[in-house]
Amino acid sequence: MNKKVVVLGEVSEGSLRNVSFETIAAAKAVAGDGEIVAVLVGESVKSFADEMIHYGADRVITVEHENLKNYTSDGYTQALSHVIESENPEGLIFAHTALGKDLAPRLASKLETGLISDVTEIEQQGEDVLFTRPIYSGKAFEKKTIKDGTIFATIRPNNIEPLEKDETLTGEIISSDVEIKDLRTIIKDIIRNTTDGVDLSEAKVIIAGGRGVKSQEGFEPLHELADVLGGAVGASRGACDAEYCDYALQIGQTGKVVTPDLYIACGISGAIQHLAGMSNSKTIVAINKDPEANIFNVADYGIVGDLFEVVPLLTEEFKKLKV
Ligand code: FAD
Repeated sequence: MNKKVVVLGEVSEGSLRNVSFETIAAAKAVAGDGEIVAVLVGESVKSFADEMIHYGADRVITVEHENLKNYTSDGYTQALSHVIESENPEGLIFAHTALGKDLAPRLASKLETGLISDVTEIEQQGEDVLFTRPIYSGKAFEKKTIKDGTIFATIRPNNIEPLEKDETLTGEIISSDVEIKDLRTIIKDIIRNTTDGVDLSEAKVIIAGGRGVKSQEGFEPLHELADVLGGAVGASRGACDAEYCDYALQIGQTGKVVTPDLYIACGISGAIQHLAGMSNSKTIVAINKDPEANIFNVADYGIVGDLFEVVPLLTEEFKKLKV
């Protein structure tokens, strides 16, 4: 069956987040030959509409308002509710980002429909769309479907390949006027805590440090390696608890869930709570002094050694490859 599916494009720091294109690819898997409608919300977002079309959206609806400059639950719920009411789609696909995790359950509750969150794969089975998602901290996967009502899912970044970009594609761009009012939260200012430019949840390469890094300064070689590889630096909770780095870098069950192409774990033992946030990474390299460390059980490549010797060597070798 062909369905109309609405996706939400996320604009952050003046550009579209890559996961926005992944939502379009996911929507294609749900829509069949139906229509994909992308929604862009913000103060000034029209300039991103063409890019959503080049990645496969058939139509783009922009909702622009001064009260939508920064994300607020109330503002975005009002904007999206208005679009969903007028479009009446059979499917909704958002990103499983901080924004999506906050917004999707609110809308699902308003729509009185189910929500399948943190999806890593989508497939058709007869008339049903099956969504795969991790359970038990990533130790197992379940497949779920929504039989009645709107099909609503959030997708984990870096798991569903975007469609090929095609700049010859064209589509309709419509602005939707919505009154955004009675906001209970007003963002006055945003003070950023992290220093890294690369967003952890979307990074293709992550160099993560654990308690074995031993100090704030111990993270320096990891930053150097991340710079050479164009990656981001992450951490275990052990490192965050020891105040070697900010909690914004924490990866795991109670931190961020990441799926990079390459995850290099340095001085991390591999506790189950840490594995919950990174074990689906495409290639895992572990550097640890202890050959018995649990991290080696999930690693594709293991280096038994002192991270303070191994990491600078890797940085030097990768630098040579770049020349
Ligand atoms: P450790 O377990 O102390 O390991 C340090 C490792 O460094 C050791 O394996 C050691 O051999 C190695 N090492 C030391 N020096 C060197 C060196 N010079 N070179 C190479 N290797 C070296 N943890 C998370 O990470 N994320 C979470 O989200 C999370 N959530 C939690 C939620 C709950 C409810 C609970 C109870 C725990 C949670 N934890 C989480 C904590 C988790 O159980 C572990 O305590 C934590 O992951 C350990 O961090 P670590 O591996 O850095 O430290």
